[in-house]
Amino acid sequence: MTKTIRLSAGTAAVAGLTRMRLAEAPTTAYIMVGEVCSAKCGFCPQSKCATSGPGLLSRVNWPKFTVSQAVAALAGAVADRRFERICIQVVQSDHSSDLCQELVRDLRASVAAPVAVSAAPADIDSAVSWLQAGADRIGLPLDAACERVYAEVKQASWSRSLAVIEEAANRFPGRVSTHLIVGLGETEEEAIAFLELMAKYGVTVGLFAFTPVKGTPLASQASPAVEVYRRVQVARFLIDKKFPGVKFAFSEGRLTGWGVHESTLKQLLADGEAFRTSGCAACNRPYYNERPRGVMFNYPRPLRSHEAVACIEAALGMTPERG
Ligand code: SF4
Repeated sequence: MTKTIRLSAGTAAVAGLTRMRLAEAPTTAYIMVGEVCSAKCGFCPQSKCATSGPGLLSRVNWPKFTVSQAVAALAGAVADRRFERICIQVVQSDHSSDLCQELVRDLRASVAAPVAVSAAPADIDSAVSWLQAGADRIGLPLDAACERVYAEVKQASWSRSLAVIEEAANRFPGRVSTHLIVGLGETEEEAIAFLELMAKYGVTVGLFAFTPVKGTPLASQASPAVEVYRRVQVARFLIDKKFPGVKFAFSEGRLTGWGVHESTLKQLLADGEAFRTSGCAACNRPYYNERPRGVMFNYPRPLRSHEAVACIEAALGMTPERG
């Protein structure tokens, strides 16, 4: 049987497999392996409790290609410097872990780009097998900021998943990422405590904004307020860069202080870097959480100065940001 995988719509277009006008091009090639996940994440169209259809991940369409077609196209696109990285999203379904291992080997043999593998932190053995196959990084998305939200939204064991991430971070220092989805019901204080815990483990955090998707249990829930998202982005940036003097203050779970003078904060944030997509190097995920004409939660490119000013003002609670 011919093996098939899915590519995000933007990836397929940049790889020349489809024709599509892109407002922003992905700098990482996103691949999906497996379909119809055995997990029950309430926000995910791939989860076994969703009715969204097999070709969706977040709000993005993922057309299907044969493995040989996709690998050949990605090899050409990487050689042309159209992609700087490859990321394989592994859906927890039959044989997906083995297919991912084979795919990492195929990619390492013919595509000159680093390969990340992103999969639920179910067990350490799979992560080890993908790194041994040639992946340079492992993404183990926790998605939820704390045990309370994890149980509600993912219906899985927080302590077990956290233990897998901690072990991976100890065994493969500097090579582990996780994801945090803002807007699943956590407070800003819980989200920032999560960021500080991951920094302690040495785990890179990719921030996502909750995106309601038709056919999922959380389809009627709203995306986070952009001001909340901006504050969490700034906190992630300050923690990641280890800026001295940062001391977060909270009131009823809401972030109310940074421990840094506002003028200093504005200087630190002036280039807008804090509001760009975070995660592995070169992972820019264009329109993964946004509509082209909506609010841009994660900027997939350097910000223009007026965009940076608007983001800073939203984060510091001066002027609400509008799409
Ligand atoms: S941060 Fe990006 S490249 Fe890294 S595992 Fe997550 S989606 Fe993949």
